[in-house]
Amino acid sequence: ELLTSGRPKNQFEKGSLARVYAVASGKGGVGKSTVTANLATALADRGLSVGLVDADIHGFSIPGLLGTTAKPTRVDEMILPPVAQGVKVISIGMFLDADRPVAWRGPMLHRALEQFVTDVYWGDLDVLLVDLPPGTGDIAISAAQLLPTSELLIVTTPQQAAAQVAARAGELAEQTGQQVAGVIENMAAMTLPDGTVLDLFGSGGGQTVAQRLTGSLGHAVPLLGSVPLDPLLREDGDGGTPVVLEHPESAAGTELRRIAGSL
Ligand code: ADP
Repeated sequence: ELLTSGRPKNQFEKGSLARVYAVASGKGGVGKSTVTANLATALADRGLSVGLVDADIHGFSIPGLLGTTAKPTRVDEMILPPVAQGVKVISIGMFLDADRPVAWRGPMLHRALEQFVTDVYWGDLDVLLVDLPPGTGDIAISAAQLLPTSELLIVTTPQQAAAQVAARAGELAEQTGQQVAGVIENMAAMTLPDGTVLDLFGSGGGQTVAQRLTGSLGHAVPLLGSVPLDPLLREDGDGGTPVVLEHPESAAGTELRRIAGSL
């Protein structure tokens, strides 16, 4: 059923049973990829069949976050995704020989994403996560077209200036006809060992984005959670061992596992 008249078929057309979440942010560096890798890992750890598409083509980081250098294998016309931390994962980084910048333009990016949903054999997935590039560029629009059932998850920091940019990324949903499943605040206040609370990036950004999107999209957009700043999240990301598995009881690990359970 995968091949329709010899042509590979989009496995995530309307009617597909997988829940699809495209993870977006207004700008880079807010922890979108780190959150996505951990949600995917936590969902797989809960026993779900999970796929992850790294569509952050210019800034791909998912293979490193999941600690894999594996290459996809080819079987006939199909590409089998490597499995890392229990997650089937595909990234443009896996098709490049060296760490060279990707100088692709819109149509090539669209084609790459199209191949990820047609030529990659995903099998029966419960959930597909897509790590979008920051902002509202070509790829976010292509992803919306190629994944017609996808809902957006918006990652923002608590900073009000960042929240305004993140809300605009969410408002792209108006044009693409997508729903926004929720907002995840990241880099929220951390509690230091002496009990002081350090809110490096201020507070309230997640709530601001959720309220603004609820107002502008005409459906309720919940704040799904608030992941604190946590050195373990960064260290485990650098080590390719997601914090939700490596330090599940840490502040960030606990909240990320809770958010995964609410999806
Ligand atoms: P994006 O995908 O939005 O560009 P990344 O996931 O690459 O962002 O995260 C940017 C940096 O911030 C990484 O070095 C990551 O380890 C770190 N980071 C992300 N979230 C947190 C957090 N809650 N606490 C500490 N460091 C974080």
